Amino acid sequence: MNLTYSKRSGPILFGGLGDFYEESDHRRLTDFLYIWLSEGEDPHEDEIVTGGGFSITHDGEIIYRDGSELIPEVQFIANREARRSYASDAGRDIISTLELTDRLIPDEEAAIDFVEEAIWEGVPMCPHCLSTDTYRTLNGKPMRHRCRGCRKYFSVKIGTPMERTMLPLRTWIIAIHLMHTGRKGISAIQLRKHLGITYKTSWFLEHRIRKAMEDDNFIMSGIVQIDETYVGPNERWKRAKDKLHDRWQEGKVLVMGFRDHNGRTVLFPMPDTTRRTLEAQIQARIEPGSTIYTDGHQGYMNIPNLGYKHEWVNHSVGEFVDGMATTNGIESCWTLLKRGYVGTFHYMSAKHLHRYCSEFAFRLNSGPGNGLETIARTIRAMVGKRLTWDELVCGPPEQSRDAHLAT
Ligand SMILES: [Zn+2]
Repeated sequence: MNLTYSKRSGPILFGGLGDFYEESDHRRLTDFLYIWLSEGEDPHEDEIVTGGGFSITHDGEIIYRDGSELIPEVQFIANREARRSYASDAGRDIISTLELTDRLIPDEEAAIDFVEEAIWEGVPMCPHCLSTDTYRTLNGKPMRHRCRGCRKYFSVKIGTPMERTMLPLRTWIIAIHLMHTGRKGISAIQLRKHLGITYKTSWFLEHRIRKAMEDDNFIMSGIVQIDETYVGPNERWKRAKDKLHDRWQEGKVLVMGFRDHNGRTVLFPMPDTTRRTLEAQIQARIEPGSTIYTDGHQGYMNIPNLGYKHEWVNHSVGEFVDGMATTNGIESCWTLLKRGYVGTFHYMSAKHLHRYCSEFAFRLNSGPGNGLETIARTIRAMVGKRLTWDELVCGPPEQSRDAHLAT
């Protein structure tokens, strides 16, 4: 929940921030929460309510929470953040849904053109033989393009999750836009209402878009923060090390988060937090010689012997920013995932959790945009990632790399 900490004499000032959309009036807000801790209080306990907060709207207006305008420190920070967020908004890829549906992608023709441009960038390529010697068919039948090499007809959807879809591509584009509009995503139930489709269709649609968002096959380097949390139904979330009883973990899945110094994030389910499992993931995803920041979990203590620099933070004694070592960045992702779990999805099944993790990480990595640039990036990521209904419903749980779900 926190990106910035600063120590004051006496209690600690503890701040959090994240972007989200307020559904009621479609305003994008940047949310800040400041909590004053007394000596010995643990900021990861949900009960702590002492403090104040404010949000900043898209237009730079400050909305204070519960009398926080009376606290001079909060006022000062709010004014500073309002200036910052207003100033930085111009370059962001943010559009309204109305703008997208009425002006930018008004019909199916425009939608197909947009998807083709996103994937082919002006040069259609035959998915069967990879030739670019192709031509447009006269009336777009049976498909829009035909290859001179292999004589086969093709469309831009082949080889993507959109292959064989009955939905108009315009619906796909609007769905992608809506999934990027809220920082915590959109549920299949809500999406269904926006698009006028059945629940089953919107659920399948969302999972196919999530499939495109799977993007964890890269190696991190530099400074990497690591943290872990449990995701599960009906109970408060706790960080893994905070609870050790087996019964408490029942029905829950462990999620691991890696975040590098550029803010690039990977989230994925894990079977356990044993040293062996943690080290296997670290070695698979982080370049040797990098610096790794973790908490004080025992499983991390052998990291220096694997060729990494290791610094760790001891939360239990209130040591938050000790020199440079911090896991604040990755911890802020848990807040977002938690909000999504509780507020948007209500339930993420263990079988599909890795895809929800990909979705959250993808959104974190692509920034607060929901416009054409962001949509095009998502569509480009679809190439080569098909997900059929049978695979989704009947197949074994797909794994994110070698991670296994604790089911
Ligand atoms: Zn061909």
